[in-house]
Amino acid sequence: MTVAREIRIEGVVQGVGFRPFVFRLASEFGIKGWVLNSSEGVTIWAEAEEEVIKGFYREILAHPPKLAMIVNHSIKPRELKGYDHFFIKHSERSDHKDVIISPDVSVCDDCYQEIMDPNDRRYHYPFTNCTNCGPRFTIIMDVPYDRDKTTMRDFPMCPDCAREFEDPMFRRFHAQPNCCPKCGPQVTLRDLEGNVYPGFGHEFIKEGKILAVKGLGGFHLVCDATNRESVAALRKRKIREFKPFAVMCKDLEVVKRYCHLSPQEAELLESPAHPIVILKRRRLDDLPPEIAPGIHTLGVMLPYTPLHHLLFAEGLEILVMTSANISDDPLIIDNDEALKKLKGIADYFLMHNRKIYNRCDDSVTAVVGGEVQIYRRARGYVPLPVDLPVDPPAVILACGGDLKSTFCMTKGRGAYLSQHLGDINHYGNYQQFLYTIPRFEKMLDVKPEIVVYDLHPDYMATRWAKALKGLRKIGVQHHQAHMASCLAENQVTEPALGVVCDGTGYGLDGAIWGFEFFAGTVDKLERMAHLAYIPLPGEITIKHPSRMAFTYLYEIFGDAGLQYARKYLTALPSEEQQVLVKQLENRFNTVLTSSCGRLFDAVSALLGVCTRVQYEGQAAIELETQADITDAVPYSFDFNTATYPYTLGVRSTFQEILEDLQQNIPISIIAGRFHSTIAEMIIKVLERMRKDTGLSVVALSGGVFQNRLLYLLLIRRLAEQGFEVLSHRKVPTNDGGLSLGQVYIASEVIRKDVSCHSIEDIKN
Ligand code: ZN
Ligand code: ZN
Ligand code: FE
Repeated sequence: MTVAREIRIEGVVQGVGFRPFVFRLASEFGIKGWVLNSSEGVTIWAEAEEEVIKGFYREILAHPPKLAMIVNHSIKPRELKGYDHFFIKHSERSDHKDVIISPDVSVCDDCYQEIMDPNDRRYHYPFTNCTNCGPRFTIIMDVPYDRDKTTMRDFPMCPDCAREFEDPMFRRFHAQPNCCPKCGPQVTLRDLEGNVYPGFGHEFIKEGKILAVKGLGGFHLVCDATNRESVAALRKRKIREFKPFAVMCKDLEVVKRYCHLSPQEAELLESPAHPIVILKRRRLDDLPPEIAPGIHTLGVMLPYTPLHHLLFAEGLEILVMTSANISDDPLIIDNDEALKKLKGIADYFLMHNRKIYNRCDDSVTAVVGGEVQIYRRARGYVPLPVDLPVDPPAVILACGGDLKSTFCMTKGRGAYLSQHLGDINHYGNYQQFLYTIPRFEKMLDVKPEIVVYDLHPDYMATRWAKALKGLRKIGVQHHQAHMASCLAENQVTEPALGVVCDGTGYGLDGAIWGFEFFAGTVDKLERMAHLAYIPLPGEITIKHPSRMAFTYLYEIFGDAGLQYARKYLTALPSEEQQVLVKQLENRFNTVLTSSCGRLFDAVSALLGVCTRVQYEGQAAIELETQADITDAVPYSFDFNTATYPYTLGVRSTFQEILEDLQQNIPISIIAGRFHSTIAEMIIKVLERMRKDTGLSVVALSGGVFQNRLLYLLLIRRLAEQGFEVLSHRKVPTNDGGLSLGQVYIASEVIRKDVSCHSIEDIKN
């Protein structure tokens, strides 16, 4: 008996070839009816024998198109209409916009073959794409996802492209950005004088010139990574002395030549997102030292647009590909802006006339201990949601932190994190924060009812949030948000233990926290232990680790510490040392801190590894690079349980480090022992906390856990001690993941209707 069923599929189902897939499947199964893109997702009307429809439904769920992500689905009986064929219905507009927009997808194999085939009409055409690949988030201005709602609306399709677009059996069926050399965007290669050149600029790159290249989410600055003069020039012109440059390699073979590459890392490089993957270099002398000074890793990606593939001609195999921005301002996305701001940096400009609507940096990832970790979540991942463990009782907007900023907006159980917005103390980044929020509201069709902010009174996002009128505002402590972020992505609602090792964050007592131990559920996290407080002599200390080393020496050893400082902190001028003594004595312009990042800074400077910081975490990263952890015996430390919260003291740690220094023990050994000390500290405290609370699930969060040496040592040791360890896989462990934790805490505070001393709650 023929029956009718209505099937609804929600999730990432538009712009991923879902309808042609359903169409082909329906013909295979002999099903009549239609398929339709609606604002909620995809709706299918199926008429056939009940068993046949069941098989069809099962197949859709079991083998959807590669890029699809099904979040919800349902099947309901309907009255038979008696269709005589299966067809694709035109999009209808309805009030709900529940379709999840797809992130940008790297060029697929089929499209790659076409651009490399001299007989194909898309030979060397840099904007070739299909339903399986191409731009999405970066060009989408509104939903539902149709060409007229993207920046491709400026390019009407030619008859050939229109035919492909209408053919349900073809892979460009309803590929919204579909285009060809006849009808689509075009590239231009020019110099600052306005002279235009043919081609993609290989000859200039080979000559050692620097190109500004417009990509998917913004411009890159590009040069030959094997040419020392070019790389050094780029560094000088960009006024960036130390921060490592990312590179793009022609293919996996080239990657393998320069870096160690596990099968999992190769898979990540080739995944649809094509992120930057941090890899360990094989040797340090095969590329100019200016690529990544002071570190042994390299951020590598593969070409992800046809234009990138076309850059690798005439023997070019590895290119520096660094974001085109000036001193931490937002990535440049506009042609005129590029010509103006990159004057004096880029020699040539490879630009095109397709607009970038949503700015999006390259994502940065690594495989650590067999798991993917995301350090910067942007292109290829945004705007996919992260599932919350609970249903938030309202639409929540969480504003995130300050550096590595992201915000997060909820829709149902989905937590939608914005792309990485950078340091929003910079005017341009703050502007981007301001205009990206309404874009997410539009894209998700939600209006936030609750806004969540970090307690730091000077954060730009905090000031902005507190000034909002007419909605409830909830302030959340920085490190509690870190821990909650880890619990959220691991779907934990039960009480747990947490360790947050971080740079800085505003504490509930006004001190700067950063090495914190909590226990409880996210709405009631109790601070059970922390690193003992030490004064932080002014904000500038964050950029000058020697000042932190000096502070530890002086605070711990008094006048004896001054002798050590003279001997080991040679980078710190003696006049500055004298001023510091006065400052510390009078507690002038100092704030107390328990930061783990600052402890790493102090040791890094004391060992002479890094004395001046130009990017966040630099001193710790360089210390990690130096460290040899084989057989590293931890130094002793003080675990004080006489007062509560418990504290960790480092007097004996510094004592023993100084002894090692006096005996000329290699820096690598001391650095290794220091890493192992931090791990032992954490274990010692957690063991006590487990005894006190009976809990043994531990969440690890905070920027310091980007330190792979520490992280791997710690998770191994924790497992040995019988702890169940939770860490970050979906959002960054650094402040990029903060907004997710803020959402989770606020959601639970409202849902359970609790008020807690650690949470500010303004109901107006
Ligand atoms: Zn394709
Ligand atoms: Zn065309
Ligand atoms: Fe943080």
